[in-house]
Amino acid sequence: FLKGKTALITGSTSGIGGGYAKALAAEGATVMINGFGDKSEIDTLCQELESLSGVKAAYSNADMTKPEEIRQMCADCAEQLGVVDILINNAGIQHVAPVDEFPEDKWDAIMDIICNSAFHTTKAVLPGMKEKGWGRIINTGSMHSTVASPYKSAYNAAKHAILGFSKTVALEVAAQGITVNTISPGYTWTPLIEGQIPNTMKVRGLSREQVINDVLLAPQPTKEFVQIEQIAALAVFLCQENSRSITGANMNIDGGWTAQ
Ligand code: NAD
Repeated sequence: FLKGKTALITGSTSGIGGGYAKALAAEGATVMINGFGDKSEIDTLCQELESLSGVKAAYSNADMTKPEEIRQMCADCAEQLGVVDILINNAGIQHVAPVDEFPEDKWDAIMDIICNSAFHTTKAVLPGMKEKGWGRIINTGSMHSTVASPYKSAYNAAKHAILGFSKTVALEVAAQGITVNTISPGYTWTPLIEGQIPNTMKVRGLSREQVINDVLLAPQPTKEFVQIEQIAALAVFLCQENSRSITGANMNIDGGWTAQ
């Protein structure tokens, strides 16, 4: 049902973003992916997207800490694939450390990649959506958009901020056929989670198994990781016509985490 629609997804060379890309392509959307990674793996993903959608896919290596590159990515997407109909702001990184030891450069990078980049992409694509009178903007939040865990001050601040930003843009464009929502996953097994295990072991003095079972899954009532495909299916749902009254919403998909 997304034939003829163009989707731009930041941070989609891996993990949840890759899942969004495949699910939207499977519905026929032409997709531009973004992020870092191995060139041959990125080429393979683009080919997979093209065979799923039957139309062209593209890749941008824009760095989400660099506003100029973000604006160029949005322009390239419109030029190569068409005016952006669906924008998913998904790029993210994590750093785990007590606030009084938190490195300044990590703080800035997390704020830029998770929060500030969404401002730049949204600002760049909204005029095209307004002209068409249709658009879907989805921001990847987190359970840490509404609740906190220690040692993640930058991430939790950025994820709270992106939820506030989503709600604001939703109100600004509500009457123009454009919806803006936040999808807030609980712990999902991706390279981002894998990467924070060593630091968490260090700051909490725990083994790998203890971090997985006693830190990550302990507060997730289902006791299992959310699956990438489940999150992608929610994004597809938000792109449907019947979802047009869902805007400014925070969709928790967190195994009950934030119900506690
Ligand atoms: P991931 O590490 O698998 O993917 C992150 C993506 O962002 C990659 O494509 C990476 O190349 C890209 N990226 C990183 N820095 C970038 C930069 N400077 N410029 C452009 N792209 C950049 O992680 P993931 O778990 O799939 O995370 C995706 C999103 O989901 C993030 O916003 C994350 O905060 C959020 N999230 C993840 C979980 C989880 O448990 N995995 C839970 C809640 C929210």
